[in-house]
Amino acid sequence: MKIKKGDTVLITSGKDRRKKGKVLTSFPPERKVIVEGINIRKKHQKPRRTGEKGQIVQLPGPLDISNVKLICPKCGKATRVECKSKIKNQKSKIRICKKCGQEI
Ligand SMILES: [Zn+2]
Repeated sequence: MKIKKGDTVLITSGKDRRKKGKVLTSFPPERKVIVEGINIRKKHQKPRRTGEKGQIVQLPGPLDISNVKLICPKCGKATRVECKSKIKNQKSKIRICKKCGQEI
């Protein structure tokens, strides 16, 4: 996954287009992310105890990662990233911003 928890992303489609937010959770198997304040869904929560009122909670829903673009913390531009191994044959990968070429 090129987008990780804690990244700031730009939404590129849907009703929240052009908004920015922070990635709260990522689901690599589904290629989805949850972004703070984006794709808000209202959920009715039933009262858990008698005498308690039911309430509406607002939760951000998952977004497909193809609908978000990473904002590079180095140059501040929405960019694509390239994943590279820092050292040949090493498993851990680093992400490179395609706009400024810096490690993210
Ligand atoms: Zn950059």
